[in-house]
Amino acid sequence: LRQSAFEGIHRSFLKYENTLCELLSGQVQNSLFQTRSRNYPSCIEGALFPHQIDTSVYTGLIKAVRARLPSLHKYMKKRKEALKVDELHMWDLHVPLVQDVNLSFTYEEAEKLVIESVAPLGREYQEALSKGLLKGRWVDRYENARKRSGAYSSGCYDSMPYILMNYNGNFQDLMTLAHEAGHSMHSLNSNQHQPYQYSHYPIFLAEVASTFNEELMFLHLGKQELTKDQRRFLINQQIEDIRSTFFRQTMFAEFELKIHELAEQAVPLTPQLLKEIYHQLNVDYFGEALSVDTLIDIEWARIPHFYSHFYVYQYATGISAAHSLYRRVIEENGREDYLKFLSSGSSHFPLELLKRAGVDMKSTQPVAALIDHFDHLVDDFFTN
Ligand SMILES: [Zn+2]
Repeated sequence: LRQSAFEGIHRSFLKYENTLCELLSGQVQNSLFQTRSRNYPSCIEGALFPHQIDTSVYTGLIKAVRARLPSLHKYMKKRKEALKVDELHMWDLHVPLVQDVNLSFTYEEAEKLVIESVAPLGREYQEALSKGLLKGRWVDRYENARKRSGAYSSGCYDSMPYILMNYNGNFQDLMTLAHEAGHSMHSLNSNQHQPYQYSHYPIFLAEVASTFNEELMFLHLGKQELTKDQRRFLINQQIEDIRSTFFRQTMFAEFELKIHELAEQAVPLTPQLLKEIYHQLNVDYFGEALSVDTLIDIEWARIPHFYSHFYVYQYATGISAAHSLYRRVIEENGREDYLKFLSSGSSHFPLELLKRAGVDMKSTQPVAALIDHFDHLVDDFFTN
């Protein structure tokens, strides 16, 4: 069933590869035109300039991840062994490694857990969130006729930081509430402390506050009474979060950089060329344990984020920054600096604000620390 779903979706994209390649190529040409007409040396420099992100943050991320790909390869090898399959395929990547774990929560339980989980951020933070969730009616929580899917935190300068979600009671929904609450508290604090023009935080910073709260939730859940399988389920979730938010998005970022560089050298982007680049990236990232089927080569055609140029790398830098800040708050008394960061909106450029909070994204240390954490989780999962 998994294989046929995988093949069905990718074959459908393959049917339209010429059109989809033309569309993506148009996007890249647009970026190149903007770059040249404004005299930037390259597309990436033009894209990162508005927020003063040094290109070395982008290229350094790719380089640091490449150097540590054996960590991902090892996880793939262990996954293959755990699933007892002769060949591990793309469609085997989402199979849970711990089966039949029943972790479900009513909305009220989830609310309570989210509020409890933010205790390390201090009473003031916790009370503000508690007030918003329990009394302030921040959350449009359940599915409804014609309601849109997904989850968002949104509002304006003088409104509440509303959350839209579709709560169904499973583990992922609990994490979604924790995640969106992180965004909302970031907005609340920045709106309270900044004038309107500096109250909005850029995407480079946004996912830091939300991912940070996910880590707090994992920490909090780890303290509950859990069965061995539930505990392993949580570790596997964390491993998968890092795989998909960090490794996978860095692979996307590399693809994006490559196709822009080719366009800068006047190399025409053809479906064949894009598929070759994408195939090789998958081989490099996943390693020998995964059989990289040729159908995955077309996956670039179904990633909408490639139409927001040089966007995806921020998922990888965001989770790295969040992890380092989280460690600093939990282990080194970094709470005050972090709370100040949440109140800073866009009053300085993102790298500067993160530096003041205690993490230097110009160094590759945060990336290395996240991969160390990934290694640790993988070892923990497969030895216990
Ligand atoms: Zn988010």
